[in-house]
Amino acid sequence: MNNALRLADHPALAAACATSGPVIPLYVYDNTHDNAPGAASRWWLLQSLSKLDASLKKLGSGLVVRRGTVADVVMDVCTETGACGVYMTRGYSEHDKKTEEYLHDFAEKNGLTCKRYAGRLLLEPEQVVSKSGTPYSVFTPFWKQALSLIDNAVPLPVPQKIQAPVSWPATTSIGALGLEPKPASWAEPIAAEWQVGEEAAIERLDFFVDATMDEYQTARDIPGVDGTSKISPYLAFGEISPRQIWHKVSMHLGDATKSTAALAYLRELGWRDFSYHQLFYNPEMRIKPLKAKFLHFPWHEGTSPAVKAWQKGMTGFPIVDAGMRQLWQTGWMHNRVRMIVGSFLVKDLLWHWHEGETWFWDTLVDADIASNAASWQWVAGCGADASPYFRIFNPVTQGEKFDPAGAYIRSFVPELCDLPNEWIHKPFDAPLEVLAVAGITLGHTYPAPLVDRKKARASALAALASIKD
Ligand SMILES: Cc1cc2nc3c(=O)[nH]c(=O)nc-3n(C[C@H](O)[C@H](O)[C@H](O)COP(=O)(O)OP(=O)(O)OC[C@H]3O[C@@H](n4cnc5c(N)ncnc54)[C@H](O)[C@@H]3O)c2cc1C
Repeated sequence: MNNALRLADHPALAAACATSGPVIPLYVYDNTHDNAPGAASRWWLLQSLSKLDASLKKLGSGLVVRRGTVADVVMDVCTETGACGVYMTRGYSEHDKKTEEYLHDFAEKNGLTCKRYAGRLLLEPEQVVSKSGTPYSVFTPFWKQALSLIDNAVPLPVPQKIQAPVSWPATTSIGALGLEPKPASWAEPIAAEWQVGEEAAIERLDFFVDATMDEYQTARDIPGVDGTSKISPYLAFGEISPRQIWHKVSMHLGDATKSTAALAYLRELGWRDFSYHQLFYNPEMRIKPLKAKFLHFPWHEGTSPAVKAWQKGMTGFPIVDAGMRQLWQTGWMHNRVRMIVGSFLVKDLLWHWHEGETWFWDTLVDADIASNAASWQWVAGCGADASPYFRIFNPVTQGEKFDPAGAYIRSFVPELCDLPNEWIHKPFDAPLEVLAVAGITLGHTYPAPLVDRKKARASALAALASIKD
């Protein structure tokens, strides 16, 4: 059940149930490899496994949970139970590919069935290739091709019955996996923000499509309003499938008033597929720039007080600080602000995008190996179809444009609450008497700016010039 923690639209589960034999739903927690879940994902996983187990129990089944490397555990469970087949949902990282190959060989040698099913993307990476058979590195032609291939198949229902084995193999308790946050208080605001699990995913999608989607095109860029679907963590854990979302949203494509919004939204799901497309064809995407010349970019690496200030939302640039605090407090950050804070780290601070990718990996509840790495490479200018490196986001003008009344800043940076709109994005330029009335002393109640942006911009462009071919 790894990365497909749901019962509906689950091709591997449906196929296993269709054999009419007993089925052992298995989740293997493996924290030994580079893509092991970060702290926020572990918190989500803890809730998600419990929800899935409860749903399975309602069907007379249950979730067997074990710790170890996926291939070893699956082989052990097969040997212990005399299982005659392995049914799994496909993954796209190098680690997933190796696990699948290993299990395939094991099954072949032992006369077992081994079947691998899609279920995490709209289309498989091999399906969306150019006429000459090559993968895409630019989104627009990728999406055009994808749109011509996607059908609107009705998602698979929850299996009516999952036959239990005569005797269940041993299971580790979910609580013993060590997924609890430390300290526990860190996750309290995150828990207040989210409902986890398959049922919550469907509720969230229904709410978005019925109540919010019409305004998506304009609202999606405004961090101060709830204008996006916030479906990303459910997708990251496979609590909902992209095909379920496609099906629900595409019901509105025939409706003239809704279809533009629906298409704009589906296009974002296309970016998710495109990220996996890139990961599949560039297995080292988490560590290696897709544009080779960026291997020599003189980014700073490691930790430093500047990186710590960025992580804590203490840079002195309000929109950056609001974003980083939203991430820490809720495990999620608005997409527009992810781009702004990312640009600030890699261009204003000249810090390596790995630092940002790793921090996001640890703190996002929607941490996703493909979307995170592809997006960080996009921000850093070294990815496929990336924002050019010389396009440096100005956090002040970005804030003024997308959060003009400072609603977003005020909710996450309360110490700036009483600043008038004119200065909320640039307290460092505000007259002293305005700061005094708002109760702000720069460097004391709110940080002075971490960098001189003019100098930072010049350094970033000089760094870029140093790697020009
Ligand atoms: C630096 C950076 C890091 C990111 N890291 C992640 C990550 O770890 N996990 C993750 O799911 N997304 C990541 N994103 C993409 C995007 O920010 C989130 O998918 C989006 O904010 C999730 O909120 P939502 O579900 O409300 O999105 P909506 O706007 O409602 O979009 C619906 C879905 O489309 C997909 N989507 C939207 N935008 C993108 C995008 N730019 N790239 C890929 N898929 C997209 C997501 O699955 C999202 O849930 C990152 C973006 C940046 C700039």
